[in-house]
Amino acid sequence: MAKKKNKEKTRIHFDTDWKYDPAPESVEHIKVNKQYEHYIGGSWKSPNEGKYFNTVNPASGKRLARIASGSTSDIDDAVAAARKAFGPWSALPGKERGKWLFKLARQIQERAREFAVIESLDGGKPIRESKAVDIPLAAAHFFYHAGWADKLTYAFPGRNPEPLGVAGQIIPWNFPLLMAAWKLAPALATGNTVVLKPAETTPLTALKLAELIDDLGFPPGVINIVTGAGDTGAALVQHPDIDKIAFTGSTDVGKEIQKSIAGTGKKLTLELGGKAANIILEDAAIDQAVEGIINGIYFNQGHVCCAGSRLLVQESIESKVIKKLKDRMSTLVIGDPLDKNTDIGAINSRAQLKTIQKYIELGAKEGGEIFQCEGSLPDGKGFWCKPTLFTGLAQSSTLVKEEIFGPVLAVQSFRTLEEALTKANNTPYGLSAGVWTDKGAKIFKMTTKLKAGIIWANTYNKFDPASPFGGYKESGFGREGGLHGLSAYVTF
Ligand code: NAP
Ligand code: MG
Repeated sequence: MAKKKNKEKTRIHFDTDWKYDPAPESVEHIKVNKQYEHYIGGSWKSPNEGKYFNTVNPASGKRLARIASGSTSDIDDAVAAARKAFGPWSALPGKERGKWLFKLARQIQERAREFAVIESLDGGKPIRESKAVDIPLAAAHFFYHAGWADKLTYAFPGRNPEPLGVAGQIIPWNFPLLMAAWKLAPALATGNTVVLKPAETTPLTALKLAELIDDLGFPPGVINIVTGAGDTGAALVQHPDIDKIAFTGSTDVGKEIQKSIAGTGKKLTLELGGKAANIILEDAAIDQAVEGIINGIYFNQGHVCCAGSRLLVQESIESKVIKKLKDRMSTLVIGDPLDKNTDIGAINSRAQLKTIQKYIELGAKEGGEIFQCEGSLPDGKGFWCKPTLFTGLAQSSTLVKEEIFGPVLAVQSFRTLEEALTKANNTPYGLSAGVWTDKGAKIFKMTTKLKAGIIWANTYNKFDPASPFGGYKESGFGREGGLHGLSAYVTF
């Protein structure tokens, strides 16, 4: 009897009616221009064809700014500026290039709040994440590579690393400033010059970065930023005077790029999609694992290439884990990305929301059992989606096979480690995976057999500039970060 009483005392009860007061981050002192031009050769240039498009705030559907739309001739101008700057930039002593990167890193830190607010306004991600993850990691990436700029002969001992020339870099909308940093920092540290094409829905922080580059008086033409849609990216890929293409985005576009540059001699790195399995074994610390699973899939609305979008849970703990997951999902705060209490912000675009909704309908049609928490989504014209969990899906179901890039988790169970490995590897992708267990030996066994470029053990979504990031199979090739990432921008 006494035992029962104690047990009752330690049980936590969630009061679901309880709400946080709003705590929105101030947008005062945040300056977003009404219109942005391309940043080419150290100055702002109107688009040659005079075309613009809108970038909107996905939480309200309202326009934030008009953005220059890049044509082939804008790309020609940007590549010419980068080519002109290449000689002097690559001839600079590494120490001097390093100083520029240090300045950039420090300025990003200095203006971190401004970058974080604009990232959340333009892309819909919770301000807590922009502040704690995107912007500090972007600065860290510049710091790390600034450190390498004058030590390249130590990075590649006994070899003579030379820059490749002009790099064309194309990035997606899920981590806009961070992806820009991942691309720019290693290219510049090794003496290359760059033309960067940000994603159509999230160009603002790259343009803010251009402002910062301009304020610092960076040598003109070293960094050029041309905004636009897929056609602008394609023009960059096809430009004859580009030496290297670095692309992060979908597998379909990655394949197109690979085809279109075959035989040209251009170097290529591709960071593409994923369908990661987060595997939880019966001896894992379950509460920690549940928190990791939630982070793995609902972080940034599931707009994460390495998202743990499949959960493989050992049969003996399946019902316990699912119950805990559902309880935790019910406490997640969905709403204003600028509110510091928000866990789940807005879906990045109307088009992405439609894609996610299509997958959710399909999951139900294919026999899956859906769980979404109760309560209504924010009003207004924003793009919102509840965190969603599916159980009862077959290995052959679309939700288990395809990347959704949204807050949708497909749960499957397994009995033995071998079954978990087979299921985890049964995907055309191979970007990331997670393992949760109390036993180091099991971690070693699993990590050596999982076919994924990044594997986390008893944690998820941890990033570091010194750690190489990249995939196997249809998740692409080449690495970003660490020495592997550096080597993708040099020739010997
Ligand atoms: P996407 O459609 O492939 O777009 C990525 C970038 O490529 C955007 O800047 C896009 O411009 C541009 N683009 C589109 N078509 C192009 C073409 N034919 N030639 C050259 N550039 C072109 O991908 P997304 O939907 O924006 O991003 C989500 C995908 O990125 C997911 O599959 C995700 O897994 C992947 N991703 C991978 C990593 C990684 O490190 N492995 C990291 C983040 C994201 P627009 O914006 O105008 O379309
Ligand atoms: Mg936007």
